[in-house]
Amino acid sequence: TTSHTVLSLIKPSGSLTLGNLLGALLPMGRQQDSARCFYGVADLHALTVPHDPGRLRALTTETATLLLAAGLDRSTLFVQSHVPAHSELAYLLESTAHVGELNRMIQFKEKGHGRPATRASLFTYPTLMAADILLYRPEQVPVGDDQRQHVELTRDLALRFNNAYGAVFAVPEIVTPPVAARVMDLADPTAKMGKSSAEGPGVIRLLDRPDVVRRAVARAVTDSDTGPDAVRPDREAKPGVTNLLEVLVACGGDPAGLTTYGALKAAVTDAVVATLEPLQKRYRDLAADPAHVHDVYADGAATARQVTAPVLAAARAAIGL
Ligand code: ADP
Repeated sequence: TTSHTVLSLIKPSGSLTLGNLLGALLPMGRQQDSARCFYGVADLHALTVPHDPGRLRALTTETATLLLAAGLDRSTLFVQSHVPAHSELAYLLESTAHVGELNRMIQFKEKGHGRPATRASLFTYPTLMAADILLYRPEQVPVGDDQRQHVELTRDLALRFNNAYGAVFAVPEIVTPPVAARVMDLADPTAKMGKSSAEGPGVIRLLDRPDVVRRAVARAVTDSDTGPDAVRPDREAKPGVTNLLEVLVACGGDPAGLTTYGALKAAVTDAVVATLEPLQKRYRDLAADPAHVHDVYADGAATARQVTAPVLAAARAAIGL
């Protein structure tokens, strides 16, 4: 059986959350048995909005270390900017894309359009994302609704380039990903728990200490239901309780027999702390040996440079460079 290629990049725009672990890192880990996995820290993508250089560097290292601590040690791990082919191919794709189609990107319209100080890289971001994908020639790209338009653009750019200059790119198929856990903000269970959210009481970070987790869960929004069956999932009517139940189960806890919100929160705290504890232990061990983490990422970048070099070379030659 030919193993397929899986690619996933995480932007170091904040400290990773429980949502990132349950919705991304653990599923990424499970792919390692059946696919050739390329996982990266997308530091270039973190430059599209105002940023602090020292914080970006620290978050890149922290995120890289967390990917390893989360068990992604059978993948090719790399930092995006250590593989210059990403920027180089992005420029060739900027020279393939039209301003009109980039202008139609909903994310750009929502985040940056019309503000003069918006960085140009936010506008061209979809061409860098297209380069990220096309360099690794994945057969399929599983994509949620928020990124679908960008992957459609990736396909359009690949096809346009191929038609104009020759068959350089494999045009990936867009597929619907298997439903992953979606963790909601504990303080606002109608919003996703996001790493880029301002420091909020409803976000659990992977490196949070047990007492911080306990406080966040204790403050989690529930509802005023006090009946004997108050602890039950109902996404519409009881989003806070539903989220807590899902987190509990995703962290290996058992919701059976829980009748009060106090008991539910105690169980959630225990399950989350038990899930984070081994991860934090591995993180501390890795952080104490930065040379090892550095070597893993140096090897990964070397592999990524090797794998992507033929695609970049073919694109350069085809376009006339
Ligand atoms: P964030 O919103 O935390 O900045 P990204 O958009 O960079 O995260 O997503 C990184 C990965 O983590 C993606 O695969 C995304 O689906 C996943 N992810 C992010 N937040 C959550 C969440 N609250 N629940 C489940 N998965 C999430």
